[in-house]
Amino acid sequence: NTTVYYDDDADHSAIEDKTVAVLGYGSQGHAHSQNLSESGVDVVVGLRKSSSSRAAAKADGLRVATPAAAAAEADIVSVLVPDTVQPAVFDQIEDGLEPGDTLQFAHGFNIHYNQIQPPEDVDVTMVAPKSPGHLVRRNYENDEGTPGLLAVYQDETGEAKEEALAYAHGIGCTRAGVIETTFREETETDLFGEQAVLCGGMTALVKEGYETLVDAGYSPEMAYFECLNEMKLIVDLMYEGGLSNMWDSVSDTAEYGGLSRGDDIIDDHAREKMEQVLEEVQDGTFAREWIAENQAGRPSYTQLKEAEETHHIEQVGEPLRDLFAWDDGNEEEAAEAAAD
Ligand code: NDP
Ligand code: MG
Ligand code: MG
Repeated sequence: NTTVYYDDDADHSAIEDKTVAVLGYGSQGHAHSQNLSESGVDVVVGLRKSSSSRAAAKADGLRVATPAAAAAEADIVSVLVPDTVQPAVFDQIEDGLEPGDTLQFAHGFNIHYNQIQPPEDVDVTMVAPKSPGHLVRRNYENDEGTPGLLAVYQDETGEAKEEALAYAHGIGCTRAGVIETTFREETETDLFGEQAVLCGGMTALVKEGYETLVDAGYSPEMAYFECLNEMKLIVDLMYEGGLSNMWDSVSDTAEYGGLSRGDDIIDDHAREKMEQVLEEVQDGTFAREWIAENQAGRPSYTQLKEAEETHHIEQVGEPLRDLFAWDDGNEEEAAEAAAD
């Protein structure tokens, strides 16, 4: 049975007299900093001296210090720099952690795969919004919430969970609902999901479908609309009301065709591959590979990224998206593009 926490379950007093150091002012960092600050929490943003984000944080009215100074001052250190640089940043801030302080994460990778070994006398928690940072911020400003996850890895003070709930409240997550999980479960499901289903699986499905149509002689523009553009409409229907809402909304022909053919496309072979992907997440193979990849200066990453950016579907999609900018209500842009 999953426990979901809402505003009423959080006690702001668990965080109101504390100082939170938010390390990083990127996607999550800018949202957590501003939301916490507007929720009445003392926030100091930790950024290196050369950081290009310093100006933005200051312009948003926040206090800025180096990561080491911010962490030394704070009771809660929220580690919101990219996962790959967290171990190096942790080395800079470790001395500033006092007994009873909290190390706070938005993803469990470095704790779960032992890339950061926290001191034993601090609390280690996670509040992970299930959404990109700009939405965490926008939702907060609109009095809406962002669903999130909460986990406690180390509870030295006995108050780790209360404090994490107050943090989740401060960034607006308890407005929508917060699910309790573990660092292991969050890390492994997050990596599996982004690899097999969301980022990896979906883009591969789109590309294979597109190539199948184009190779058979259909126009790339038609293939683009059918396999990429319409994806959002279908996903929106599933998001709103599950699979049946989607099936109910498409034509009977689409429903019968999809139901009778879908399992042949993503078949037992794909399932075995998914299980393999999951195994490599669970046994640390993927984590070791990604850490080594970063240590080597990202050679494969760079190559894969380039291949994706130069894929035919990208060349076809860009001018098309401009032509159909009316989709976003940008009639003027569309008219300009059409006149080019
Ligand atoms: P970003 O890539 O947006 O973080 C960029 C920030 O980190 C910038 O302020 C940058 O400043 C700073 N930074 C980068 N390198 C360093 C460094 N070596 N030393 C000090 N500061 C540095 O991170 P995200 O917000 O994407 O991710 C943060 C955490 O949140 C991760 O654990 C991630 O897994 C998790 N998360 C992210 C989600 C998302 O949608 N993005 C969703 C849920 C969780 P500078 O100008 O100095 O480079
Ligand atoms: Mg992730
Ligand atoms: Mg159709």
